[in-house]
Amino acid sequence: MTRHLITSAIPYINGIKHLGNLIGSQLPADLFARYQRARGQEVMFLCATDEHGTPAELAAAKAGKPVAEYCAEMHATQAEIARGFRLSFDHFGRSSSPQNHALTQHFAGRLAEAGLIREVSEKQVYSHADGRFLPDRYIEGTCPNCGYDRARGDQCENCTKQLDPTDLIEPRSAISGSTDLEVRETKHLYLKQSGMRGQLNDWIDGKSDWPVLTTSIARKWLNDGDGLQDRGITRDLDWGIPVKKGDEDWPGMEGKVFYVWFDAPIEYIACAGEWAEANGKGEADWQRWWRTDKGAEDVRYTQFMGKDNVPFHTLSFPATILGSGEPWKLVDYIKSFNYLNYDGGQFSTSQGRGVFMDQALAILPADYWRWWLLSHAPESSDSEFTWENFQASVNKDLADVLGNFVSRVTKFCRSKFGEEVPEGGSFGPREAQLIADLTTRLRAYEGHMEAIEVRKAAQELRAIWVAGNEYLQDAAPWSTFKTDPEQAAAQIRLALSLIRFYAVISSPFIPDACEQLMAAMHSEASDWPDDLDAALAELAPGHGFTVPDVTFRKITDDERAGWQEKFAGTRD
Ligand SMILES: [Zn+2]
Repeated sequence: MTRHLITSAIPYINGIKHLGNLIGSQLPADLFARYQRARGQEVMFLCATDEHGTPAELAAAKAGKPVAEYCAEMHATQAEIARGFRLSFDHFGRSSSPQNHALTQHFAGRLAEAGLIREVSEKQVYSHADGRFLPDRYIEGTCPNCGYDRARGDQCENCTKQLDPTDLIEPRSAISGSTDLEVRETKHLYLKQSGMRGQLNDWIDGKSDWPVLTTSIARKWLNDGDGLQDRGITRDLDWGIPVKKGDEDWPGMEGKVFYVWFDAPIEYIACAGEWAEANGKGEADWQRWWRTDKGAEDVRYTQFMGKDNVPFHTLSFPATILGSGEPWKLVDYIKSFNYLNYDGGQFSTSQGRGVFMDQALAILPADYWRWWLLSHAPESSDSEFTWENFQASVNKDLADVLGNFVSRVTKFCRSKFGEEVPEGGSFGPREAQLIADLTTRLRAYEGHMEAIEVRKAAQELRAIWVAGNEYLQDAAPWSTFKTDPEQAAAQIRLALSLIRFYAVISSPFIPDACEQLMAAMHSEASDWPDDLDAALAELAPGHGFTVPDVTFRKITDDERAGWQEKFAGTRD
C-alpha cells in the first residue's frame, strides 16, 4: 500500500472562485485522491483558504466587516461550495489557524538560526491620514510604464508590470484616497534564497520525472539574470502572522507580520495539524504524513496547482523547508495546469464574466460540471469553456452514452424478467471479447489515472462506456428474447453487471451518479475490479435491483441560450 499526501493550491479568501480556478487545482486533486482511495491506498487530501495579505483586508473593508469576521464567513462559504462539488478533502483548513501561526514562526526562527534571514532597511509609503504604511495594493497611482491611472502598488493591471509602491506617479491611499503620503524608512526581513541556489538546483535536477513545463519554470527563476533573488517575507500590516522567532519576540520587528506568500504554503503542513485537532488525533498522527523522521519517508506527496503558482512551489516553499534543516517532507510530484478560458475570452472576477462555483451548482448538479471540466482539463495548453461544447458533452457522454445504457438495460430487464438479475444462458465469444476489450481499456485507464493524465483518463473512461453500448446494440437482447430468452437473460445479466462496474470505476469523476447507480444495483461492495471476470460475476442471478431515476438529463437549446446570456458579464 502507498500512502498519498495530496494538496491542492489553496484558494484566496476574497470571494467565490470561478470554474477556471476549480479545474486548475482542487478538482483534479480530488479526482486523484478519490482514485487512490478507490484503489485501497491511504490518502491524506488537504486544502485550505489563504487568508492573509492586503486583498483580504480590502475586501473586508468593502464589505464593512472586521477582517477576521470576513475571513471566517468566506471560509464557511467556500467550504460549503467545496462540499457541493464533492471535493473530498480530509480537511479544509485556514491559513489563519493557530497551527499555521506557530509553524510559520517556527520556520522563521529556524531560518534565522541557519543564517538565512537578513534585515533590510527599505523605503515604504506612509499615510498620515490612515496612520499606517501602505504596502502592495494599499496604494494606487499612475503606472510609470504605461500611464494607466489605477495601477496598484504591487502591479499594474493594465500592462502587468511588477511595481514597487514608490514607483507610482501621483500615489494615493487605496483606503482613504488621501495623497498626504510620505516615504519612510522601515525594516523588513528577507529570506536569503540566493544562498540556497545550489541546493535548490540539485533538488530540481533530481526530478527527472517532472514535466518540462514545471522544471523549466523553476530553472528560469534559478538562473535568469542575476539568478534567484532574496525575497521579502514581512509586511507592515496588522492582519497576518506576527513576526516572531519561534515563540520569542523579534527585536525591531514589532507590529509587523509575515508576508502572505511566506505563510500560505506552510499552511499545507499546518492543515494536517488542524485535521488532527478536528478529529481528536495527536501530533504523531499528522507528523507521520509530514516528518520523514516520524513515518513520512514512504509517503508520496503530490501537489496540484495552476502554472502561475509553480515558482513558489518549486523554489520558495522548498527553500523554507530545506533551509529549516529539519526533516520535513518535500514534494515528490507537481501537477500543474494551464488556464481555462470562457467563451471567447477570459473568466473575470471583477467583471463577473463566466460561471462561478456557486452559480454552477445552482443550475446543474456537481457531476455535470465535474465531467465537463475534467474531460476538458487544460493540461497541455489552455482550454476553453463554451456553452455549445458543454451542452454537447453532457448530452452525448453522460445522457446518451452512460445514462441511456443504464435506463435501457434496467427497464428492459424489469419488463421481461422483473427487478432481479435473471438466470439462465451462458456467455459466448461475444461476451468473452467484450470482457477482453474492457480489461485492456481498464488497464489503460488505470495507467492514465496513476500518471494524472486527466483528459486521457476521461477519454478512456468514455470509451469503456461506449463499449457497453456497442455490446448492447450488437447483442440486442430485445430481439434475442423473442427466439432465445435464456441467451437474452445472460446478455442482460452481463449488462447489469456492467452498470455496477461503471459505478465503481467512474466514481472519481462523477461520484453522486455512481452512488445512485450503486444503490440502484443494491450493491455496497465497491472493490476495484482487478479481475474483470470476477467483477462482472459479482451480481448473481436473483440479486435484486431497482430501476433508477434518470441518471443524467439533457440540456435543452433554450437552457443553453439562457445561460449563455446570463453569464456574459456583470455578476450581481
Ligand atoms: Zn502599466
